[in-house]
Amino acid sequence: MEKEAKGQLRGIVGKDYFLDSPNELYVYSYDATPLYQAMPDAVVMPGSVEEVAAIMKVATQYRIPIVSRGSGSNLCGGTVPVDGGIVMVTNRLNQFKEIDQQNLTATFGPGVITQDVHKAVEALGLFYPPDPGSMRISTMGGNVAECAGGMRGLKYGVTKDYIMGLEAVLPSGEVLRVGGKSAKDVAGYDITKLLVGSEGTLAVVTEITAKLLPLPTAKQTLVAYYNDLTDAARTVQRVIAAKIIPATMEFLDQATMVVVEDFARIGLPLDMQAMLIIEQDGTELQVEHDIARIADLCRAEGATEVSVAQTAEEGAKLMAARRAALSALARVKPTTILEDATVPRANLAEMVEQVNRIAKQYDLQICTFGHAGDGNLHPTCLTDERDTEEIHRVEQAFEDIFHAAIKLGGTITGEHGVGMAKAGYLDLKVGPVGMDLMKRVKEAFDPHGIMNPGKIFAKSSRRRVVVKTHACEHEHSHN
Ligand SMILES: Cc1cc2nc3c(=O)[nH]c(=O)nc-3n(C[C@H](O)[C@H](O)[C@H](O)COP(=O)(O)OP(=O)(O)OC[C@H]3O[C@@H](n4cnc5c(N)ncnc54)[C@H](O)[C@@H]3O)c2cc1C
Repeated sequence: MEKEAKGQLRGIVGKDYFLDSPNELYVYSYDATPLYQAMPDAVVMPGSVEEVAAIMKVATQYRIPIVSRGSGSNLCGGTVPVDGGIVMVTNRLNQFKEIDQQNLTATFGPGVITQDVHKAVEALGLFYPPDPGSMRISTMGGNVAECAGGMRGLKYGVTKDYIMGLEAVLPSGEVLRVGGKSAKDVAGYDITKLLVGSEGTLAVVTEITAKLLPLPTAKQTLVAYYNDLTDAARTVQRVIAAKIIPATMEFLDQATMVVVEDFARIGLPLDMQAMLIIEQDGTELQVEHDIARIADLCRAEGATEVSVAQTAEEGAKLMAARRAALSALARVKPTTILEDATVPRANLAEMVEQVNRIAKQYDLQICTFGHAGDGNLHPTCLTDERDTEEIHRVEQAFEDIFHAAIKLGGTITGEHGVGMAKAGYLDLKVGPVGMDLMKRVKEAFDPHGIMNPGKIFAKSSRRRVVVKTHACEHEHSHN
């Protein structure tokens, strides 16, 4: 990066919020995704929208890549600066601007931590449902850019269902305001929704207005254990077919239960093949009714044990154990590769079977857990990136899993985004017409291609590109 550009950036944010020494930059060379790493040339931490706009003008003038970043907890290589350039950390834009109890909206900066939104609105009897497993560390800017989901997606939807308005800065430095607090707004294209899930490839989000709901007054958690994985998957379909929409329906297979138990020590029966954690919220009467009915359906589908948490703490403990699944799995082997294949929920049982078949075929340890009610599975491969032969098999297995998901009417990613990890597979889902249109949308926002390059759109037709070097010189790939 040019010396003058660095000087200008330092001048905009001040020396305390500008980093360019290798040790400091290293921290921003990776995110929560294994296998990907590349060094930025500089990190900037703007403290206002004006600073963001000024940084964007410098980036455009010198054609420097801009990688927006919150907490770096994404699982698709979304913040790895694969072409170097500037990592723009938006965590200082963390002001809570307003909770509007008339319009039921909250407005805040992108650096606000997800769980802090939950706490702030719940203190007023309000509810912001999206709850990614990373909610204690992830920022709302990151959630918006990934369109994060979570455990409450089944009943309440995902981030895009709650974002009503955004302020964002374009690469030109122009400040764009879209949407707002109006419950209805069909004035032109829905740019707000377009920016949600755009993974930092179009603009930098600097303010978010989110929709809120009244906080449900009651909640109950039920756990069901199964000797047969398919019975658990079938229960999900049966509950929905009975016209009950639980807030949460989470699935863990035996391999995941074993590591979660080792991590959380909550007394899971390790001889079982699978478990479902189901939560319902609403009024006390409705929750009582639904949970009793769900318990009956679990038994009817072959659950060997069904129990309802007796206290809110017991329920919270079960949910926390589920949230710990990824961290627990990550302790087992040096490299944990988690995927996000998603199918219409009626095809969940079939998808679980396919994952197990593929794991066997490639002789891999794949544990599966996920948001069963959404048909959103997280097949997670426990491996070691130093074993290149095994990593090759992992890549082939995941490619097969993506093909299987698409064949079942699903998608390559339900909530974690495309980033680098799935860029090579996007065409499988959207086809050539979709790819072409998306590229033209990208060009309209970002004519010089400086916004998070290498994400969503693969740099070549090769499948997964593994980058693991400071200068990002080595690439291993396969078709
Ligand atoms: C343990 C764990 C559990 C998880 N559980 C879930 C889950 O249940 N559901 C789910 O959907 N996801 C989950 N995730 C992944 C999820 O995508 C992220 O955790 C979260 O949404 C990203 O927030 P972040 O602040 O870390 O963003 P980052 O990782 O820093 O960034 C994510 C993306 O957003 C872009 N971005 C960040 N800030 C801005 C901004 N201000 N403007 C424009 N673009 C921006 C980045 O360029 C990048 O493309 C999990 C991750 C982990 C590690």
